Amino acid sequence: MRRLRSITLVLALVLGLTGCSAPPADPDTAEEHVQFLAMDTVMTLSLYGENRAEALSAAEDLIRSLEAKLSRTEEDSAVSRLNRGEAVELDEELDSLLSLAAFFRLATEGAFNIGVAPLASTWGFTTDHYQVPDPSEISRLVKVVEETWLRDSPEGHVLEPGQAIDLGGIAKGYAADKLAELFREREIPRAMASLGGNVLAWGNRPDGTPWRVGVQDPARPDDQSAFAGILSLKNAFAVTSGGYQRYFEEGGRVYHHILDPATGYPADSGLTSVTVVADYFPGESFGTLCDALSTAFFVMGEEDALDAWREDWSRDVDLVLVTEDGRVVITQGLAESFTLDEGSGYTLEIVS
Ligand code: ADP
Ligand code: MG
Repeated sequence: MRRLRSITLVLALVLGLTGCSAPPADPDTAEEHVQFLAMDTVMTLSLYGENRAEALSAAEDLIRSLEAKLSRTEEDSAVSRLNRGEAVELDEELDSLLSLAAFFRLATEGAFNIGVAPLASTWGFTTDHYQVPDPSEISRLVKVVEETWLRDSPEGHVLEPGQAIDLGGIAKGYAADKLAELFREREIPRAMASLGGNVLAWGNRPDGTPWRVGVQDPARPDDQSAFAGILSLKNAFAVTSGGYQRYFEEGGRVYHHILDPATGYPADSGLTSVTVVADYFPGESFGTLCDALSTAFFVMGEEDALDAWREDWSRDVDLVLVTEDGRVVITQGLAESFTLDEGSGYTLEIVS
């Protein structure tokens, strides 16, 4: 896959630099930085403050342990065992994350559904052996996904044969929530965490101004400095889902990794990316929320996403929608903090 290869290359170039920090200086402005591959993406963490070195290594450990726990490719993970049909006693963390996933499924009328796993597998998105499946196989799996619910059994939670779950649509957002708690506990004054499209902007930048978070231009996915616009954020999550992030081409068509559970095909809703932004609140799970909603709104398309936002989510999150027809639609709460990239060619609309 083209994009992953270029990411690996970039990573190889920067690996030599990881772990470097500025000479001892004002702890509030000196930075500790690391970049690594986890959860199938590139992660970058930059931390400031007196505790930055210990907190940075704790943060990396945290992400790696979540990766092992939530992965469906790690053979021993609870998720893999559930997917093999075993009854599993869930620990408190997984139990509450799976409950949250079930809530998001209901709240998005099934647009977000961790039960898409068998569909993602048949399209080859789990193994990188991409293929366009047979339409009859897709219809069969759409029914399987629709019926996928974790059941209670005397030995623990269990899935029916053929059913499987994939936490890829919320794992990074959840990791961002856990990072925020870690930063708070360790009194990190400022940090920037970028977990493959899931950003946590913690505190301000060293110069006291908000962090600047680029919204990738989905039309120019290979140029990572091509932005549709820039968000100015402080103590906030910004999570982007886009069809350009993982895809393959066959027969002149592009097939990407965000699947519409209702059709079994990659979502084709007229949006090219969705960014969901929320402020951090201690003890809340707004990183996870942003991640689930970015996937769900991408599946829903502009009109349904904005209806759902007005109805249920407008107090908690704001949106940046990039449309196939060249518009960037932002919700009112971002009017001050989003700046359109003048050279991008998009037109800006603000909705409330
Ligand atoms: P990314 O993982 O690229 O940041 P998303 O957060 O949108 O993007 O999640 C996409 C991942 O979630 C896919 O790789 C797949 O594992 C899973 N997924 C795909 N479609 C859905 C869906 N409709 N609901 C829930 N999870 C999904
Ligand atoms: Mg998501």
